[in-house]
Amino acid sequence: MRYLGQLACFALFLFTALYPITGSTILNGEDVRARLIFEAFRRAFPDRISSLEFKDEEWTAVIDGTRFFWAHGRILPEKEREKWASYRQHVFIAYPDQPKDPRSYSPERIAALREQGDAEARLNGDDHHPAFRAALYGGARRGGAESNLVKVLLFDRMVSVHKRIVQPIKKVNAAVSAAAKHDKETAIFLSSIGSLGAYNWREIRGTTRRSLHSWGLAVDVQPQRTRSKIMFWEWERDRNADWMLVPLKDRWAPPAAVIAAFEKEGFVWGGKWDFYDTMHFEYRPELQEMKKVLSAIGNPGVQKDEQASVFPGGKEALPAAR
Ligand SMILES: [Zn+2]
Repeated sequence: MRYLGQLACFALFLFTALYPITGSTILNGEDVRARLIFEAFRRAFPDRISSLEFKDEEWTAVIDGTRFFWAHGRILPEKEREKWASYRQHVFIAYPDQPKDPRSYSPERIAALREQGDAEARLNGDDHHPAFRAALYGGARRGGAESNLVKVLLFDRMVSVHKRIVQPIKKVNAAVSAAAKHDKETAIFLSSIGSLGAYNWREIRGTTRRSLHSWGLAVDVQPQRTRSKIMFWEWERDRNADWMLVPLKDRWAPPAAVIAAFEKEGFVWGGKWDFYDTMHFEYRPELQEMKKVLSAIGNPGVQKDEQASVFPGGKEALPAAR
């Protein structure tokens, strides 16, 4: 709870400078957290969330006529509000500039990652309510998700992606092609891609949670040869209990120009997560929006936190999303 004071300070700044709100509402720390997170989503998906409203003592957002409530840190449809304790709390992570060096992990951090990475814990632990993301992306079922798919050219291959990211993907493709003309590493990367995958209606490995691949909002880029480099924490976990300590230099990574091109268009790279997945990019513009907010208010130091969680209550790392 050590960020509550900081939160209160920057909240004041936010509400007066960045997000003026009409009416007078007395807000507590949890309301501020809710408002900021919903605001980041609203800015990232303005066509899906047109306005935010404080209703029945909670911040709410409406998508396609369904009102979602911030219920004790969970984003729930109205009929599920009372069941908030059955769901995992929403954790908003500050997307880091660089992958975290495992040499900086404390023993407590290592123990926490080992526990969270345990196969049984991942399968049987509390989960987020799926309705908010399904509504945001347009489809809780396969048919709905597939109706949003469009084929687009990326790295000389056709991939099926959500229509929302067609322009971002085209820009990534153009930026990487341009970089390959003067950056040898990028040219080699492009000529040695083994496979490229985007849409895939499936759950995140080892969980019952839907992957962003299910909506065509994530892209996996695999090289023909990894040259013994490690790509994915879970494959490593199955043979090495210290999977989280694999040095960065031993993990496969796309060239910096490729990561930068994706990030510029609202994607995050899985190689920056504690649960690293270095072939994976996913469209998370709300994280970029939150980053803008944090830098606009002078970075209240949250990035220094070991778990890089923006808000109090964030006691876990960003879950692997493969
Ligand atoms: Zn993936």
